[in-house]
Amino acid sequence: MTGHRSNVEELLARLTKGDRNALSKAITLVESRLPAQRETARSLIKQVTDPDFRTRRIAISGAPGVGKSTFIESLGLYLIDKGHKPAILTIDPSSHFSGGSILGDRTRMEELSKRDEAYIRQSPSSQYLGGVSRRTRESIFLCEAAGYDTILVETVGVGQSEYLAADLTDIFVLLVQPGSGDELQGVKKGVMEMADILVVTKADGPLEKVAQQSRRELRNAVHILQSKSHGFPREVCSVSARENRGLDNFWKLVSSFLKKITDEGYLQAERHNQKAIWLTDVVDELWLELLKNNDEIQSLIKTSSEAVKNNDIHVYDAAFEIMSRRLRNL
Ligand code: GDP
Repeated sequence: MTGHRSNVEELLARLTKGDRNALSKAITLVESRLPAQRETARSLIKQVTDPDFRTRRIAISGAPGVGKSTFIESLGLYLIDKGHKPAILTIDPSSHFSGGSILGDRTRMEELSKRDEAYIRQSPSSQYLGGVSRRTRESIFLCEAAGYDTILVETVGVGQSEYLAADLTDIFVLLVQPGSGDELQGVKKGVMEMADILVVTKADGPLEKVAQQSRRELRNAVHILQSKSHGFPREVCSVSARENRGLDNFWKLVSSFLKKITDEGYLQAERHNQKAIWLTDVVDELWLELLKNNDEIQSLIKTSSEAVKNNDIHVYDAAFEIMSRRLRNL
């Protein structure tokens, strides 16, 4: 136990000094599913939570190919120029489709990854739905403890991962491909309703006109969406990440949105709500651990499996029987 504690202390000391290797090691630890490592991860996380509200947590979502990594790279470099330290929790594209690499072997965010002021962590999307998992929350805390002030969480626009990302961040940014009205209809309404800011990408060259048209259409379209609980209107803008245009305006929108929700107390309230969601998640996780590591339950499942296969008992009845027996013995 002492060894375990001193390991945690040592890792934490290095991490809070901004040691990137320690940060990577800590994130690997929280991503681990091994019970012993989960315990170590929890004692680490217990010591790094509750930062003040000075950090920004930004979800960046959009379909594959919309321009997320190009946008995040430009934004990251822009933020570094402004004196920020961005951390990017992103998706390893080589894992998008069962090992196949539709996006090629291109290194994502090559320029940004060379900068000491930024930290980029790629998680395999196959392991986590759309790249975001409950572990992403812990990774955010670790990045903040290591001194990163702006955390960008990338998701691939598949639905479920966006809900998770929204529960972990302060602002939700949706990237939209320039296109005609019909193509814009393809953007999932549910995901659009989560957005605080919509960004039309690739506003340059031959796509520039289409992008400006899409921006106008989206401005009209967002009016009919249900407003978010904070009640502030959704903003729409366009950028060219390739030509570094529109980022200033985008960042102004982000900053003014964050100022509004901070001044009105929504940011604090939202982070407190997120803590309650965290509690539910941990209780779920602990229940699962309890059941998975419980010999009695495991042997009951084995026995009942036979009965179920032989049609002696219905799956539901067997499952309820196992749970109620276990609960009686708690
Ligand atoms: P992701 O899959 O959403 O991360 O998208 P990527 O950032 O990989 O970009 C997909 C494609 O769009 C690539 O071929 C990029 O070069 C291109 N792209 C990204 N941003 C821009 C941009 O600002 N302008 C133009 N013209 N192309 C872009």
